[in-house]
Amino acid sequence: MNYATRVVDLKKIYHLKGETVHALRGITFDVPEGDYVSIMGTSGSGKSTLLNMLGCLDRPSFGQVVLGGKDTSKLNDDELSFLRASRVGFVFQAYNLIQQLTVIENIEVPLFYRGFVTAADHRRARELAKMVGLGDRLGHRPTQLSGGQQQRVAVARSLINNPDYILADEPTGNLDSRTTEEILALFETLNNDGRTIILVTHEDDVSHHAKRAIRLMDGLIQEDRQVEERRSTKGRSSMDTSALNLA
Ligand code: ADP
Ligand code: MG
Repeated sequence: MNYATRVVDLKKIYHLKGETVHALRGITFDVPEGDYVSIMGTSGSGKSTLLNMLGCLDRPSFGQVVLGGKDTSKLNDDELSFLRASRVGFVFQAYNLIQQLTVIENIEVPLFYRGFVTAADHRRARELAKMVGLGDRLGHRPTQLSGGQQQRVAVARSLINNPDYILADEPTGNLDSRTTEEILALFETLNNDGRTIILVTHEDDVSHHAKRAIRLMDGLIQEDRQVEERRSTKGRSSMDTSALNLA
């Protein structure tokens, strides 16, 4: 079995103003390629911390994160950045778009870290914009878009490097229920296309769309189970994922 990621006895301790916070206190689990995992738990239970470790945005205090067969603790910062840029796509609750940039420029942002953008990249960015239904909004800026449209830009941005897995931290937290369905439909299509998805949410409704639900409590896994009666968005997304396979 191929594992997109493997987490072994992961601990994260923050030191803040003389206080010690044990955000993660020993987390162990595997995520097979193609899985769709929701991470649930009350505020402060360690969800974002765990996602940041999985995406190599931050280093563990103890324990291991193995990503694409590589023990990330053995990589230096440059190697970690490269691994992150080439394997992982991120989507955040607050969209995190750059206000001064257009839709198409925002989608291309992850490429800047690579240092160059080719004509093929531009084509791919346009195709991704089309794929998420924003083909007619390429020159718009974030303030000219609805929340749902901004999150679709963020999903397209997360895909520009053709990542193996997508990490999403409360991606529907700011969206109404109809727009939430749209974003979940995008994720479902991407998962059906073989991408691994790890989605942090505190909404039961959202977690029912995943194949598996992990619940955190006080920095520990309280529950890890397959989702029975998984909910499908039943093809609400008319997304054509062929854009993903563009070179
Ligand atoms: P969740 O996403 O489940 O709400 P977090 O992972 O953000 O939880 O936070 C887990 C715990 O770690 C909380 O007690 C939080 O205050 C603390 N924490 C998170 N990030 C930091 C940080 N950068 N510095 C200090 N403490 C932090
Ligand atoms: Mg959080």
